[in-house]
Amino acid sequence: MRIPINRIETVPKESRFSEIPDLGQEELPAKVRFPSPVQVNVTYYRSGRELFFHGGLKGQVEADCSRCLEGVVFVVEKNFDFVLTPDPLPTNKNKELTEDEMGLSFYSGEDIDLSPYVREQTLLALPLRPLCSESCRGLCPGCGAELNRTGCECTSPGDPRMAVFRNLRLDR
Ligand SMILES: [Zn+2]
Ligand SMILES: [Zn+2]
Repeated sequence: MRIPINRIETVPKESRFSEIPDLGQEELPAKVRFPSPVQVNVTYYRSGRELFFHGGLKGQVEADCSRCLEGVVFVVEKNFDFVLTPDPLPTNKNKELTEDEMGLSFYSGEDIDLSPYVREQTLLALPLRPLCSESCRGLCPGCGAELNRTGCECTSPGDPRMAVFRNLRLDR
């Protein structure tokens, strides 16, 4: 989503859009998928040469449970607020010089691309350690069985039902 800078006026305007954030999977704590685009609403205006943006995003993200690897759908919701000021050195390729210590971001060119902000805010809203439930039993470290669905012999040596099978085997 791009907003042409010459359409940003002192009177606030609101716009709504939806998009699938382009997340680099390698930076993520867990693999995530978007079942549908994330909904974004943003209000923007200018004061002099500074551009102000605030709004929120809401969507669904599917991630793998970090214990049992089952896909789980989470709601991601995040409000954001940021100010852009004109890049003081728009022609200088040296990015180090445009990095600002006060946390301000710069703009240059003809329009503002909101996609990187949507991506950044979505990343901040992701669950760090997705779990299908707090009580998820995960996978058996011994045999890899999904313990939420099935038991396994190696983790339940005291289970009387398993003892029956063990005895049967011993009898043979
Ligand atoms: Zn789980
Ligand atoms: Zn096991």
